Amino acid sequence: MKSEAIVANTTQIEARSVGKKFGKFHALRDISLEIAEGEFLSLLGPSGSGKTTFLTLLGGYENTTSGQLFLEGQDMTGWTANQRGFGMVFQGYALFPHLTVAENIAFPLKVQKRSKAQIADRVAQMVEMVGLSGHENKKPKALSGGQQQRVALARALAYEPKVLLLDEPFSALDKNLRGQMQEELRRLHRELGTTFVFVTHDQEEALALSSRIAIFNHGELQQVGTPDDVYERPANRFTAEFLGDINILSLDGTSGVAGTPIKLPGNAAGLGHLAVRPEHMRLAAEGDANQLPVRLRDRVYLGSKSRLLLETQAGEELMLYLDNGAGPAAPQTGAELRVAWDVQDSFAV
Ligand code: ATP
Repeated sequence: MKSEAIVANTTQIEARSVGKKFGKFHALRDISLEIAEGEFLSLLGPSGSGKTTFLTLLGGYENTTSGQLFLEGQDMTGWTANQRGFGMVFQGYALFPHLTVAENIAFPLKVQKRSKAQIADRVAQMVEMVGLSGHENKKPKALSGGQQQRVALARALAYEPKVLLLDEPFSALDKNLRGQMQEELRRLHRELGTTFVFVTHDQEEALALSSRIAIFNHGELQQVGTPDDVYERPANRFTAEFLGDINILSLDGTSGVAGTPIKLPGNAAGLGHLAVRPEHMRLAAEGDANQLPVRLRDRVYLGSKSRLLLETQAGEELMLYLDNGAGPAAPQTGAELRVAWDVQDSFAV
């Protein structure tokens, strides 16, 4: 399920042609991106693609080397992190080890010189919101990883920042806990309506959590869109391959694949490959428009379904899934088959 947070269509943050160099190394090039108020934007990309660098530029922890950053229409390029006042949750939890849970959460409020009564109220509210009631007086080392991450979230949200920046906050957690924390983050986002900018290299995490995803590679922005936009309509081969399994077929220059005529999608002109996600490919039935002869190389039994590994006449590999329920018997290895797909489920790359 996607985040159902209400996304007002007001631009809150804008990056205009932002670049960042470390010495001669271009960590980011020409990033232009608008972030709407209240949205859950994930920055997704492989290791070293520049996600964290972009987050630190947004937060004001590093200076841009070119371009501008705007907050609600005001040029914030030169502002310090304090002037921007965004909340930040890091990979490690960065809690103060000598302070209790309540003191950790209270810390930013004390810095802001809020009254004692206000601080006590807000801390109680935050402790409850992140499900840590009863743990107020514990030190971080007496907490589990998930609980420590909740404290970090509560601390970052305590002073009601307009924007919360999160850098792979769940990467240290095991898979189950990670799933739980993702759910909690979705709930917090829904309840608070704060803008979340979330760095991850985990495709599933980004698809499940975000209202939009910005995909980075080698310091360049590849595509920005809703999860189904970027998954179903990737802008290029990198995005197509990065976001999940994909079948890639070489086009043979005469609007076909390996000599078989194929209906091509609208964007095919000038591009050399056709991409179809495995879940959109099936064994052909009579009347299917796009049919491509293949040979079954292997069949991997996965319980409720099987994964078929296929080879085209040009020797390219394909994959599709077959339900193991009622229906015709599964084909044997070596069988000559035909696969089909609908033209709207294919895109050229
Ligand atoms: P990861 O998922 O591994 O954190 P990332 O996409 O967040 O990757 P960044 O941390 O933004 O990537 O790094 C982008 C590139 O910039 C990397 O090649 C990194 O080595 C380089 N880099 C980042 N910070 C600095 C720095 N302070 N000095 C020099 N190079 C840096």
